[in-house]
Amino acid sequence: MKVTGVACHLLQAKVDRPFTSARGWLYTTRSSCIVEIATDEGITGWGECYGPAAVNRTLIETQYAPRLIGRDPFDVEVVWEELYNRIKDYGAQGFAITALSGIDIALWDIMGRATGKPIHKLIGGAQRGEIVAYATGLYFTDMDRLVEEAVEEARSYVAQGFRAIKMKIGLGDPKLDRRRVAAVREAIGPDVALAVDANHCLSVPQAIRLGRMLEPLDILWFEEPISPEDHDGYVEVTRALDMAVAGGENDFTRWGFRDIIARKAMDIVQPDVCAAGGISEMRKIAALASAFGVECVPHAWGSAIGLAATVQFLAALPDQPPAFRPMPPMLEFEQTPNPLRDLLAREPIVQRRGIVTVPQGPGLGIEVDRTALDRFRVA
Ligand code: CA
Repeated sequence: MKVTGVACHLLQAKVDRPFTSARGWLYTTRSSCIVEIATDEGITGWGECYGPAAVNRTLIETQYAPRLIGRDPFDVEVVWEELYNRIKDYGAQGFAITALSGIDIALWDIMGRATGKPIHKLIGGAQRGEIVAYATGLYFTDMDRLVEEAVEEARSYVAQGFRAIKMKIGLGDPKLDRRRVAAVREAIGPDVALAVDANHCLSVPQAIRLGRMLEPLDILWFEEPISPEDHDGYVEVTRALDMAVAGGENDFTRWGFRDIIARKAMDIVQPDVCAAGGISEMRKIAALASAFGVECVPHAWGSAIGLAATVQFLAALPDQPPAFRPMPPMLEFEQTPNPLRDLLAREPIVQRRGIVTVPQGPGLGIEVDRTALDRFRVA
């Protein structure tokens, strides 16, 4: 089998109710670069790249696509090494890797379709057929009702059956953050897991202080307390707090994660399959983490394609650690408005009572709806 074409689709969808993160980013649209790879056997594979879509497209069209034509998709890791080594002098992190991630996912999708197997069967097999999903949300929308809106949103997730929720923090006032998290904990009760995510808006002392204030509220993990470049700072925060510290959605490849994992700078690493290097590289990062006793719980923030790739990866990810009653790695199922997540697959991945069933169809296990692709494509 040979690759005959590589196309990038730039998609964008308006968000009905814009929301803000602790970094001050106002989300009014969701967009993505979707990669479509065609072969001489009529099999087409799909991938997705994390981050600004037009840059990913330019990298793929100018740097990667010409080197992909004529290649056998089953040489996926040969292709990965070659493309990476052609670009790393200029970008061993960031866009060069997000663009490569979309290609890698599409090649795995092709291999799955060619063999009639879901990707998780090609990367070690099914550790589980159902994945516990946690709801990501509780951003900042109505600045006059920050506590009330968080409580209402958290209650809606519990009503849907979610057993775990992740909320945004980082309001520039630790007492307000504590009040808001405490109100959510009170509303959801003691049996629903609650994680917090600061989107790296804090300094080391701010993170340790806020972390200590939140620890009595039974927090599952404290995500991205500080800036991703500051590995020394992560070591300090992780050692200072009893609760787990997580991060890694802004880190890339096995080399980018190596020092974080070897130093145990985080208790939980969260590589994103659409950013960190695709399915191929996620496996290597997870193996590194396992060897050092660090948990790997993927980050996910994408369209139906990125979500499906994350589900396939999670299906094959071993329990960390194995146990009689393990606490298996959870799926980040973000609940903010995103038509690209909900409408791009003909049968979208959904949760029922907080559980996602792993699709058993070939490749990613979803079929892309070309009508939706056309509808959201940016001219
Ligand atoms: Ca996050």
